[in-house]
Amino acid sequence: TDFESLGLAEPILKALATEGYTTPTPIQAKAIPEVLQGRDICGIAQTGTGKTAAFALPIIDRLAREPKRAGPRRVRVLVLSPTRELANQIADSFNTYGRNLRLSVAVVVGGVPIGKQERRLSGGIDILVATPGRLLDLVERSAVFLGDTEVLVLDEADQMLDLGFIHALRRIATLVPKKRQTLFFSATMPGPIASLADTFLTNPVKVAV
Ligand code: AMP
Repeated sequence: TDFESLGLAEPILKALATEGYTTPTPIQAKAIPEVLQGRDICGIAQTGTGKTAAFALPIIDRLAREPKRAGPRRVRVLVLSPTRELANQIADSFNTYGRNLRLSVAVVVGGVPIGKQERRLSGGIDILVATPGRLLDLVERSAVFLGDTEVLVLDEADQMLDLGFIHALRRIATLVPKKRQTLFFSATMPGPIASLADTFLTNPVKVAV
């Protein structure tokens, strides 16, 4: 398929075939090779464009090629989402595309008991999908440490700002390593979002669809 020419690992190509995906969407075609190269991404894309797979597929590829266990209470990949619903959808996508690999995927969002989430994080997680407020609650409790995070994704950044997560995001920025890969997605890029993007991104590739 066209996904093969993007250079994704075989277990991922198999999962895509199972899903019936044959052709990358435009944002996937543009973003996946850049993410595989290790570049930061600043993506302007709406829901429905295939943006979730645009970041999930190359992230899974990285985990497949460099398998290692996250340390206790550590995460390898952190995905920030504005809402519980989106967080669960993103986690479902990672599980679907990663079905032929052994990846641990966890969701931490508000409105559900925190104790269960603390226990889930104790052994370390490959991919943590979180809403910013609940993530910081877990950080305060020392249930999770972000200092080993290799890849940070901000999805629907404009929604996160609208929901008042700006301070939480700036705090999270101080907790992740300076040396990391960051993928930033927003449906719109007005001034405040662009300056937020600036604080997170290093020499990003701009992708708009
Ligand atoms: P998203 O924009 O990430 O919310 O994705 C929109 C929908 O498109 C989801 O239901 C995906 O499963 C589906 N999708 C994403 N990429 C592809 C693709 N390359 N081929 C077919 N369906 C896709």
